[in-house]
Formats: sequence, C-alpha cells, structure tokens
Amino acid sequence: MAKILVATEKPFAAIAVKGIREVVEQAGDELVLLEKYTDKAQLLDAVKDVDALIIRSDKVDNEVLDAAKQLKIVVRAGAGYDNVDLDAATAHQVCVMNTPGQNSNAVAELAFGMMVMAVRNFYNGTSGTELKGKKLGIHAFGNVGRNVARIAKGFGMEVYAYDAFCPKEVIEEAGVKAVDSAEALYETCNIVSLHIPATAETKNSINAALVGKMPKGGVLVNTARKEVINEAELIQLMEERTDLKYVTDIMPVANEEFAAKFAGRYFSTPKKMGAQTAEANINAGIAAARQIEGFLKEGIEKFRVNK
Ligand code: NAD
Repeated sequence: MAKILVATEKPFAAIAVKGIREVVEQAGDELVLLEKYTDKAQLLDAVKDVDALIIRSDKVDNEVLDAAKQLKIVVRAGAGYDNVDLDAATAHQVCVMNTPGQNSNAVAELAFGMMVMAVRNFYNGTSGTELKGKKLGIHAFGNVGRNVARIAKGFGMEVYAYDAFCPKEVIEEAGVKAVDSAEALYETCNIVSLHIPATAETKNSINAALVGKMPKGGVLVNTARKEVINEAELIQLMEERTDLKYVTDIMPVANEEFAAKFAGRYFSTPKKMGAQTAEANINAGIAAARQIEGFLKEGIEKFRVNK
C-alpha cells in the first residue's frame, strides 16, 4: 500500500480532497493530509515516509527531497512548476509532474475579468471602451492562451498570438493570427495577455522595450508569473507613457510603488486568484491523484516535467 501525502499551505477545497481520497483509496492506497502548515519543519516531518506527494504552490527543494527517503513522485496540481527544484528531484530519482490544462479555463476567465475592468477604467464612473473589435495579443499559445483565444472570439476581438515553440499552423488552425515575434505582437495589439511560463529565457523579459511598442491606450494583462516582468522598467515606462495600464493576478514585488504611482491604471489581485475556482481545484487535484496512481501502478509518465 502506497502512502500519498497532500501537502498544501493553501488547502484544496474540501470537495477536491474528497475526490482525491476516492481515487487514492479505490486504488488501495492511503491518503494523508498536511494542510495549512506554517513551518517547513512540518513538511519535512510529513514527507519522511511517503511514496508520493501532491502539492499546490508549495516549495519542494533539496531539503524536502532529502527528508523524503521513500518519495517516488511529486505532482504539482496546477500548471506552473517553478516551485519544484527539478534538478534536485532528478538527482533524488523523483519523478515530477504537473497537471496541465486543468485550470486553464479558470485563468483565462480571470484574464477577461481583468481586461473588462481595465477598459472600463476600473469602474470609476467614467466612460470606457469595449473589447469588441480590439486587437488582443496572446503571448504564448499554451493551455491558458488557447482558452483566452476561444473566449476572445466570443467578445468579438481580433486575436493574435506569438509562441516561441508552438508551430504557427497550430495557432492559425485555431482561427488566430500567428505573428513572428513578441515585438510584432506588442506593436500590433491594444491588449496583450501574458501566458508564458517563468523560465530562464522569460524572466524579466517583459521590459520597457517590448511593452513600449504597444499602441496608445495599451493594456498589459498578467496572469502568468511576476518574475517575467521587469518591474523597474515597467514602472519607468508607465511614468513616461501615462496611457498604459497594467493589471495583474500576480502581485509585483513593487506593488506599493505601482499602486501609489499608477492609481487608476494599475490593479493587482491581493493573492493569485487565476486557478481559484471550485472547478479548477477539483480538476487539478483529481488529475494529480490519477497521475500518481498511473505512475505507481503502471509506470505512466505522461506529464513528467523532469525528463
Ligand atoms: P502551458 O505549458 O500549457 O503553455 C505555455 C506556453 O508557453 C507553451 O505553448 C510554450 O510553447 C510557450 N512558451 C514557453 N516559453 C516561451 C517563450 N520564451 N516565448 C513564448 N512562448 C513561450 O502553460 P499554461 O497552462 O498555458 O500556463 C501558462 C503559465 O500561466 C504557467 O506557466 C503559469 O506560470 C501561469 N499560470 C498562472 C496561474 C494563476 O493562478 N494566475 C494558473 C495557472 C498557470
């Protein structure tokens, strides 16, 4: 019988835990929970004898992996897995997976919530603009980007996308105009929605040179990661370009400075809210449990990210 730990500083919804438990127990395994832990020592203790670990934004580093002597697999219930030290996991012969696609619609819907808020001047009582007929640039055409494209068509937007790795034909097949570079996307679009992961190449890559290419009244929407933004340059740019707006689901390090300097042009959710829906919670949690059982019982590594 394998022991599977759900370790979540910010717990799943109870209904998601119920679904995870059903998957695990039906497979003849044991589920243990460590929720709302406040100290890393609690995590180090809880992982000691487990075979598998389900996490959310929880950090799994070398120390956690050292403590988890029997660990075979970690599944990040969600898309971004920059909270797991992949090299350390590989060195410890631990498989790391994410659950791609399970929260994409939730994130995409939030991007539109923030877009509408931005073009309606943050509901300050003044006349805004509509999304219909505007050019939307989707920066990275992955799971979230594709959902954004689908919803954008319902709004009657003209949709463009740039992705460094996704073939142009795939983008065009979805009825979206593929552009050749990030620069072309920003030059073309009234609103740019970020859906790149935080990687060595993307960190700090959303800088003044890029965002400064946006036409007058441009809106930058970030439901990706704060690390991709060059905050110092964006602040300087927004001081020079008083027409630009920035709305983000990932609070910048310089949140207070953004809020003080750009009242009426800036908004951040207080906590990352993109995947915070009942549906996404349940989907990602259950997918994580199924992936663990598939790996432990049948060796399935489909969503492995530390190849
Ligand atoms: P995904 O892996 O399905 O898609 C990522 C896309 O980015 C891929 O198509 C890839 O080709 C592209 N890409 C990678 N590097 C690139 C680069 N340098 N330039 C252009 N394109 C590049 O991921 P996803 O599910 O669409 O999620 C996207 C990101 O959104 C995640 O990595 C995560 O950081 C973030 N996210 C945030 C929340 C939230 O709560 N706000 C929730 C889920 C995901």
